[in-house]
Amino acid sequence: MSRFLNSALRALTPYTPGEQPRDAKKLIKLNTNESPFAPSPAVFAALNANETEKLRLYSDPQCTDFLAALAQTYGVSKACVFAGNGSDEVLAFAFRAFCENGAAFADITYGFYPVFARLFGIAYQEIPLRDDFTIEVADYASVRGTIFLANPNAPTGLCLPLAQIEALLQQNRDRLIVVDEAYVDFGGESAVMLLPRYDNLLVVGTFSKSRSLAGARLGYAIGGDALIADLNTVKFSFNPYNINCLTLLAGTAALADAAYFTQCCDAIVQTRAETSRALAALGFTLTDSRANFLFAAPCAPLGGQAYYQALRERGILVRWFDLPRIRDYVRITIGTDAQMQTLLAVTQEIIKGGIPV
Ligand SMILES: *Cc1c(COP(=O)(O)O)cnc(C)c1O
Repeated sequence: MSRFLNSALRALTPYTPGEQPRDAKKLIKLNTNESPFAPSPAVFAALNANETEKLRLYSDPQCTDFLAALAQTYGVSKACVFAGNGSDEVLAFAFRAFCENGAAFADITYGFYPVFARLFGIAYQEIPLRDDFTIEVADYASVRGTIFLANPNAPTGLCLPLAQIEALLQQNRDRLIVVDEAYVDFGGESAVMLLPRYDNLLVVGTFSKSRSLAGARLGYAIGGDALIADLNTVKFSFNPYNINCLTLLAGTAALADAAYFTQCCDAIVQTRAETSRALAALGFTLTDSRANFLFAAPCAPLGGQAYYQALRERGILVRWFDLPRIRDYVRITIGTDAQMQTLLAVTQEIIKGGIPV
């Protein structure tokens, strides 16, 4: 740390991203919830030499074509959509813009929320999930700050039904709820349909998971035009060209190929069901995940950390969180069928070997 660092940032602990190994080809990488499938062929066609030449020009600060396609896909007006450099940037802007009364989120959820809150000096409350990792709406009744809700939640994969999101919205119409739908395309219900009735709702999404574009960095928000105008105020005060031109083209092309998108999501959902059944048969405890990952605890005496390490030694990367309440679990991204077959075979081997705890 230099002596020049702002004293307000000295105690900051940055977010720890999942490992991105340099020699990923040798590993089965199931640790950061990327898609195992390539982007749509339409994306490859869009990123051609002619477009690469245009990198000398600034990208479109209004993201006109991409946002028109996004608005059409979600059936909302163009004034109701916003694009960010990954949904992490959209979330950062929402923390900066909308948390004058503080923020609140579950004790077990996306690890970036407390990091953004601390970066921007926002007071926050962590509301404990119930023992079964579900959210109890009544626990939020007295919360005044903006609520950040990953739905499906990470790393549990659990969905909060729309009726309960609506109950949260109704608890206090002057309190904003940001629903982070990074995983909604794998079997969740989108809160976008609630937007016409609630102006205290902002829905955030990403192209990183279900649209196979994690490396392109593309996220979005859908909400009332006033909320979207506020996000634009923050963006144009920070980085008007926040999305590069190739990413904008990739996003537009991905949206145009709805058939490919559906096919990839369906494949993940099917592989998730098969892997979940197989792990349960091996004695694992699993949540009812609606995301592109499983949240699974091996059967004692094999602990979460020991299982994670044993997989790692055998070339399979999953995510283990050294956190109170979830140490017994690992989060396993759904890969291809072949990758999951290998995971299951290796897991059987680990269980038979009686890995020391
Ligand atoms: C992956 C993830 C994001 C971030 O996605 P990017 O668009 O890649 O920045 C946001 N929220 C949750 C809950 C996620 O799991």
